[in-house]
Parts: sequence; structure tokens; C-alpha cells
Amino acid sequence: MTTPLCPCGRSEPYERCCGRFHAGAAAAPTAEILMRSRYSAFVRLDAGYLLRTWHPRTRPARLDLDPGTRWTGLEILDTADGSAFHSTGTVTFRASYRGGSLHERSRFERVEGAWVYVDGEFLD
Ligand SMILES: [Zn+2]
Repeated sequence: MTTPLCPCGRSEPYERCCGRFHAGAAAAPTAEILMRSRYSAFVRLDAGYLLRTWHPRTRPARLDLDPGTRWTGLEILDTADGSAFHSTGTVTFRASYRGGSLHERSRFERVEGAWVYVDGEFLD
């Protein structure tokens, strides 16, 4: 029996990768890993995790995910700061879905030690 790999694109089983963050067993240590775990949450329609990892200042009151969206992959294009030594960071990525892709530069901050998503800028 093969364990499915995590949707975020790292060569790890879901349970050992983003699954730990979604379950609340660990916090993403860098902005990039948080970004990957949020992509996996979109794939798995985990709106609760997406809201939990959204900055309180910019978090929407609710989030309706479209189960018809077929996400097909995440490519991290660039990162700036966002490590254990920073309090802010940006991650530029392309998230692909059937029929298109989303190219965005996302901003992250740490709130009480945990990385959260602030907002994003669409690039094309
Ligand atoms: Zn993952």
C-alpha cells in the first residue's frame, strides 16, 4: 500500500507534512512551509485551517471554498525573509488548477510566534 504524497509538492506523505499543521500538532516553522500548508488546505477544502492561519487584521469573516476547483500543483518561485529569524516574509508562487493558474506574491507575518498569511498581490 502506498501512502499518498502531500499535495504541497514536497516528497513526504501528507501525515508527515502539511497534515501535522492541519491537525494542530505543529506550527509551520517558515513562511514558505506555511504557504505550502495553506495550499494543501485549499486542496483538502480545510477552510478552518485557512482562517486559523490568516492574520486577524485581514481575515475574512468566512471562507467558502469551491469544491469544483481541481488544484494540480504548487510551485514556489521566490521567497524573501520568512525564516525563524524574521517577523515578516514574502512567498511568490504559482498555484495551478485545471484550466488556469494563480500567480501571487503573498505577505506573511508572525503573530505570537506563529506564521500567518496577511495578504497577496496578483502578478499576472
Ligand atoms: Zn505538505
